[in-house]
Amino acid sequence: MALRYEILPVTPFEQNCSLVWCDETLQGAFVDAGGEPERLLAAAQRHGVSIAKLMVTHGHLDHVGAVRDLADALKVPIEGPHADDRFWIEQLPMQARMFGFPPSRIFESDRWLVHGDTVSLGHLVFDVLHCPGHTPGHVVFVHAPSQLAFVGDVIFAGSIGRTDFPRGNHADLLRAIRQRLFPLGDGLRFVPGHGPMSSVGAERRSNPFVSDAAVARMGL
Ligand SMILES: [Zn+2]
Ligand SMILES: [Zn+2]
Repeated sequence: MALRYEILPVTPFEQNCSLVWCDETLQGAFVDAGGEPERLLAAAQRHGVSIAKLMVTHGHLDHVGAVRDLADALKVPIEGPHADDRFWIEQLPMQARMFGFPPSRIFESDRWLVHGDTVSLGHLVFDVLHCPGHTPGHVVFVHAPSQLAFVGDVIFAGSIGRTDFPRGNHADLLRAIRQRLFPLGDGLRFVPGHGPMSSVGAERRSNPFVSDAAVARMGL
């Protein structure tokens, strides 16, 4: 069995929504359905994938803008993020007005996740890492057999998530990346919320915020 995926950048923020699926059962999920629901559904249809759930890394509009509409239309559960992001989700209508996005409705997760949880999809199992800092309830989904993670706005190729939002915390973010994500090994590749894919190894070498050299300089 194997994980398959297609990255679909959505919204003016080019947020990387991932359609992920189990190639044996063709059960799939959207990780961070931020917008453009018709386009996302068309991609699922193109691959013959039936959407079984919606997975959410954190409560920012560009990551969750279409979650409520898709959950209602498909009658599927929402899993994630961690409950500490509830305050962001409660502000969705305001976030949408502020950024000139289509109206976005508040949702209640069917399963708020905690560190160490797993999320299943067909025959696939994702490990859940709680990685606060960009938002307090941010989670990361790791498919260990594929050495692949969906990391939202925790880390990007050459950068890390912003921490200047309410309840953001730079030290928490560095700790999450260095102590939760990096121990999974240099070979772990990741799909970030924005921009190109990268790997733990590449970021340990050259990410200006969390590389081995940067961290040594900071005395962490
Ligand atoms: Zn974000
Ligand atoms: Zn984002």
